[in-house]
Amino acid sequence: MKDAEDRPLKGCAVEGRNVIPAYCRCPECGHELEMFSDELDTTCPNCGKDVTMEVCKVNPT
Ligand SMILES: [Zn+2]
Repeated sequence: MKDAEDRPLKGCAVEGRNVIPAYCRCPECGHELEMFSDELDTTCPNCGKDVTMEVCKVNPT
């Protein structure tokens, strides 16, 4: 009898982006943000403020 489980294993498709996540706090509302090292700024999902990497660096979690 043949084994029915015959699907190929695929690697994780997320690899390829060589970035480091950084965590900081929104200076406006204190919400914890996750920013990636290839981004220059991000928008706080809580208050909508634009938070740059420079601001992120001085507001670590
Ligand atoms: Zn905020």
